[in-house]
Amino acid sequence: MDNTLSNTSSIRHDWTVKEVNDLFAMPFMDLMFKAQTVHRQHFPHNEVQVSTLLSIKTGACPEDCKYCPQSARYDTGLEKETLMEVEKVIKAAKEAKATGSTRFCMGAAWKNPKQRDMPYLVEMIKEVKSLGLESCMTLGSLDDQQAQQLSNAGLDYYNHNLDTSPEYYGEIITTRSYQERLDTLDNVRSAGMKVCSGGIVGLGEEGKDRSGLLVQLANMPVQPESVPINKLVKVKGTPLDNVEDLDNFEFIKTIAIARILMPKSHVRLSAGREDMSEQTQALCFMAGANSIFYGCKLLTTANPDENSDMLLFKKLGINKEEIHNSPYETEKQVDAAIIRHAEKDELFYDATSKLN
Ligand code: SF4
Repeated sequence: MDNTLSNTSSIRHDWTVKEVNDLFAMPFMDLMFKAQTVHRQHFPHNEVQVSTLLSIKTGACPEDCKYCPQSARYDTGLEKETLMEVEKVIKAAKEAKATGSTRFCMGAAWKNPKQRDMPYLVEMIKEVKSLGLESCMTLGSLDDQQAQQLSNAGLDYYNHNLDTSPEYYGEIITTRSYQERLDTLDNVRSAGMKVCSGGIVGLGEEGKDRSGLLVQLANMPVQPESVPINKLVKVKGTPLDNVEDLDNFEFIKTIAIARILMPKSHVRLSAGREDMSEQTQALCFMAGANSIFYGCKLLTTANPDENSDMLLFKKLGINKEEIHNSPYETEKQVDAAIIRHAEKDELFYDATSKLN
């Protein structure tokens, strides 16, 4: 029985890989229709949240993630850097705000932060928050005390991806276990922060692994508020440099199924956008992606620049989402947002005015 649409307002935490495989096997148009229907039940139409990602410490990472140019184990020609000064981070955050980002994400290539780094990280969070931006960090594994310290400083989101299915994970990373990742996410949640967790597709995994990743994310006791879906950006010198390309339709389907399984989460179209046509990106939005990274660098790989993003938004009539306590935590908030959106629709001819 198709129970994925029968009660889309209730969130399920008991998805099976078989059910998700079945969704992947659906005709493309049927899947897109289902995903867009779920999306419209939970989010204002035509709104996309915009985040900026800054690398605050680049390269020389001790981990061995096979897709990553920042691992010290691969010769990718990347220049390694020490932790960025707080002033430089704030300057970048101000620029991000000026170009319309609502969330500022700071990433460090670490296995985990050291205690000596914590005062700087706390300072960065406080300064970013004082600009009126939402804050997010990705720093590797966190113990419960570190998670609490970051939360106390006001950090809104913590990103830690599961990357792929538990079964395929060992092919990609050997220096950090899947369980360590789940433990970090537990620590983040227990400390009161919102969870940003997703994965990467196109790592040479099979379809069942893409299903397995989505099942892991959807079946968490509380689904991640933010779910980045990345398409591998192949970087010369990494072990996955020559892996076979994933078909873009398979990527779009992964977005659509993330939307269906996690109806209230922001699904983020993340790495890999640079190589996608406007039409592919539009299909990703149609499939329910409602968050992007904005800015010319996505950690260390290229990202479409702000102007081309804004041009695409304008062509598609997409507005940038304002900060309004998203993701929606109660049905009441959803209703209010949809009413707000309906009011906006009456002025549809002006729907892109915010982009100018
Ligand atoms: S993905 Fe993160 S943890 Fe893995 S090598 Fe790259 S920077 Fe290090």
